[in-house]
Amino acid sequence: MIVDERITAYINSLEPELPPELSFLEREALENHVPIIKKETQGVLKFLLRLQQPKRILEVGTAIGFSALFMSEYSSSECKITTIEKVAMRLVEAEKNLSDSRFPHRDKIRLCKGEALEVLKELVAGKESFDFIFLDAAKAQYMSFLPELMKLLCGSGMLLTDNVLQDGTVTNSRYSITRRDRTIHSRMREYLYTITHMEELSTVILPVGDGIAISHKQG
Ligand code: SAH
Ligand code: MG
Repeated sequence: MIVDERITAYINSLEPELPPELSFLEREALENHVPIIKKETQGVLKFLLRLQQPKRILEVGTAIGFSALFMSEYSSSECKITTIEKVAMRLVEAEKNLSDSRFPHRDKIRLCKGEALEVLKELVAGKESFDFIFLDAAKAQYMSFLPELMKLLCGSGMLLTDNVLQDGTVTNSRYSITRRDRTIHSRMREYLYTITHMEELSTVILPVGDGIAISHKQG
């Protein structure tokens, strides 16, 4: 928790309820410790989708399909969503949920199976482009995804990155962090430095959920 718990609880209490089928899936994910987007991040994502009105969304990190189905609910009817996942167990759940008739907008979603970096390269080779990207996968890889994401993101497109503050540890000294986390820590700092200093991007980092970065590409 990077923001005072009471403040977060209060903000979340103001958030309108999800449609029942999404609410059910959210509960199921939380019970199974699937790291889906937090309530307060959902609020920002919904707001950005309404503002940006994307036609083609790219998501890196499907998990069981919660955020993809969430975006299918809060985007326009002509919007298409491409989402990438590599873990077999997650893919089983994602395929089940993304074909479940309880979700009325599931046909907007295309699931791409495989290592994200490879799928991203294929999308680049296929000359695909996206006006909204939601990056929510292995944090240590964000930096290596970035060149491909920049090729895929069209002018005036938006890039939303989740989990950038990792419960606040990104601000800790390198030496207070266990060896295992040190690589992620320095790569995340490098990622945040890069997206806040790139010519093409205008970026704001917000302490929402596990920390999010909202980047807008110049038109
Ligand atoms: N966006 C989802 C949660 C994603 S959790 C939601 O909010 O509902 C992150 C997911 O990214 C995990 O399921 C993990 O398996 C996947 N992932 C991590 N690194 C990946 C990679 N390099 N390629 C493909 N998927 C990856
Ligand atoms: Mg996340």
